[in-house]
Amino acid sequence: MGRKMKAVLKAKPEPGFVVAEVDVPAAGPNDLLVKVHRAAICGTDSHIYAWDAWSQGRIKPPLIVGHEFCGNVEETGSNVTGFEVGDYVSAESHIPCGFCYQCRNDQQHICGNLRILGVDTDGCFAEYARIPASVAWKNPPGMDPDVAAVQEPLGNSVYAVLAQEDVAGRAVAVFGCGSAGMFSTAVAHAAGAYPVISVIKHEFRRHIMEELGSDLVLNYKDDDVITMVTERTNGVGVDIVMEMTGNQTAIEQGATVLRKGGRFTAFGIPAGPITLDLASLVFKGATILGINGRLMFKTWTKMSAMLSSGNLDPRPVITHHFDLERIDEAMQVMKSPKRECGKIILTLG
Ligand SMILES: [Zn+2]
Ligand SMILES: [Zn+2]
Repeated sequence: MGRKMKAVLKAKPEPGFVVAEVDVPAAGPNDLLVKVHRAAICGTDSHIYAWDAWSQGRIKPPLIVGHEFCGNVEETGSNVTGFEVGDYVSAESHIPCGFCYQCRNDQQHICGNLRILGVDTDGCFAEYARIPASVAWKNPPGMDPDVAAVQEPLGNSVYAVLAQEDVAGRAVAVFGCGSAGMFSTAVAHAAGAYPVISVIKHEFRRHIMEELGSDLVLNYKDDDVITMVTERTNGVGVDIVMEMTGNQTAIEQGATVLRKGGRFTAFGIPAGPITLDLASLVFKGATILGINGRLMFKTWTKMSAMLSSGNLDPRPVITHHFDLERIDEAMQVMKSPKRECGKIILTLG
């Protein structure tokens, strides 16, 4: 079709991204072409940027990266119903096959043939993104585009925190201060959990956690986490542990501060094998819950309502904006040793 657009590419199997002019994709019969307005950088993009072992095994360059965004529908495929040109949308990044066992048993989010936007198919760090209409999500017209752009990662936390729907009045300890840790703190607070205890690594994010409604922020290295959480919960321990790091120490601390009969929510991905005192969780009668993705689309429905009500406001997490062309600078800020940033947004037109 001859139209060109700017895009952030993993061009070759090597570290880094390049900003390049590429063809605007044509929408297939079941697709939407979306004019991207804002996009957010995720830890996954950092892995792809660094070209680590996981990326080398998974990513097939050239690929347009990015999977968190919002924009307006520019074109609808011939089979698409329910979306119109101009609609303000975001997208679920998990693209299910629709035919495997999970897909046919209400578990599309963990489809056996799952493809991920910006990982297995061209993503959204570009002026236009082509997405299957089946994963598009219509936003309310007035939604702040920064908020609309982070719904995919926020949805991880909405799903993870509300997974058992008994959160109000419960003591929650969130381990980790990456996006998942920050967003989970916000969701737990919005859902009425008390106290919400955030266990962080990077001091820069302490004030973000406080703004998000954390009742107690502890540093996993400097503070005696186990004693302080135990004291804050009158010796009982927390009802819910949100393990958002995959880090050995956090997993141990989480398993220790969980009360008997509590829920250990496993979301963080360990870099390699870790040890876990499973016996202690068994004797505690704990529920261990693995979380991946977002329920499609129950999580999106709840999240949308929580955002519309104003009870959930993830904006304190967003600290930086960069034009798409400045992706390299953005990636440097993102991996600064002291992590002096929260979520970073790319702005386009
Ligand atoms: Zn992400
Ligand atoms: Zn499937």
